[in-house]
Amino acid sequence: NGIIENYSKYEESIIRRQLPQETLYDLKFIVENRPKQLEISQKMSVLKGERNKLGEQMKKERSPEIKDRLISIKSELKPLESIANELTEKIYSKAESLPNLLDETVPVDPLKNDIVHFINCTSEDDAMTKKPRTKYDHKEIGEKLKIMDFETASRISGSSWYYLIGDGALLEQALVQYALSKARKRGYKMVVPPSIVRSEIVRACGFRPQDQNNEKQIYELVDENRSLTGTAEIPLGALHSSTVFDSVTNFPIKYVGVSRSYRAEAGASGKDTKGLYRVHEFTKVELFHFTTASNGPSELEELKELQIEVITELGLSAKVLNMATSDLGAPAMKKYDIEAWMPGRGNWGELTSSSNCGDFQSRRLGIRHHNKEQKMTHIHTLNGTCMAVPRVIIALIEQNYDPETESIRIPEVLQPYMEKDSITKN
Ligand code: AMP
Repeated sequence: NGIIENYSKYEESIIRRQLPQETLYDLKFIVENRPKQLEISQKMSVLKGERNKLGEQMKKERSPEIKDRLISIKSELKPLESIANELTEKIYSKAESLPNLLDETVPVDPLKNDIVHFINCTSEDDAMTKKPRTKYDHKEIGEKLKIMDFETASRISGSSWYYLIGDGALLEQALVQYALSKARKRGYKMVVPPSIVRSEIVRACGFRPQDQNNEKQIYELVDENRSLTGTAEIPLGALHSSTVFDSVTNFPIKYVGVSRSYRAEAGASGKDTKGLYRVHEFTKVELFHFTTASNGPSELEELKELQIEVITELGLSAKVLNMATSDLGAPAMKKYDIEAWMPGRGNWGELTSSSNCGDFQSRRLGIRHHNKEQKMTHIHTLNGTCMAVPRVIIALIEQNYDPETESIRIPEVLQPYMEKDSITKN
């Protein structure tokens, strides 16, 4: 019904997202066939009502007329049922795959993700010249200082797996503890969620086991209809699935989850796969909000501000981007990414992401709110990375490595957790 009420907004969103014409056909199919589906189910409930009434009557008097009518109702219902089932399935599967509406401030040109802010630098050039490209990337430095081992991991698990060892492992824990402490001070409740969830929950959150190129993104357990979570966003969103919040609920409800994230990254072979950049398993601290429609946009700004504060305190040169439509993903109405300069890679790399998913996930997860006007609405959800460990380690190592002393400077905010101010050879 939400789609029918907002038909023109959905149409505009599909056009602005530059999606194929078939998506518009799917939208039209839903709008044209929903009244037909309702009409059939209305007809069926009238027939079923009559059948129940006649059934009761039959208990009292066994009349041949009633019997004939019951037989004819049965034969009328049968084709209607099969049309209704087919139509319902088509409408729901098309509705499920429609992308969310778009915030009007989302840029359209895919080449123009808008830079909205610089962190610890004044421009892209400033970041690139302040931290000149080093001879070594994080992998070479990590292996040299013996805080990472990719070779053994490749033998034990395969490519894109790694060991963090000694101060490398300590750095991961320091980043996690620092991030959790920041989030808790901002009123987020801490959660350790499950790493395996039912596959329908994964889909309800807008993730597909396969991406649009049919490449595997999520690990599914064979014959179990369950998947390894790619992000804590999934079990955090599902924490309130099938819930109706009452009118006195104090929104936002904010959680910070710490978990291992599993990514199949099937299409990435050869692309950005050196070192820690694109790995199959990593630790991530994730922020999640359940809130009202009207508060969603300002809470996205709050999420972004917290992410900026974290990256600022870590001393990393980075830029904040308002992501263009083609980089948004189906659930998001608006998304900010933060990218850091990674001198060893000679490129910018994504550190964090934050999205306002509107009611996309809550509709699919059945999360509703009895608002103050006693109207039932779907709540809105937002999510954001607080700390994606491997990428932050890359930026820290590549921006803070001193080749002369062969050491990595540890930012002040992490020093209490590491009990040292630099990492030298383990
Ligand atoms: P996402 O949940 O895909 O928005 O990712 C959140 C953050 O996790 C990204 O901004 C990256 O910093 C990090 N990340 C995503 N995929 C990987 C990966 N395969 N390996 C390492 N870090 C990743």
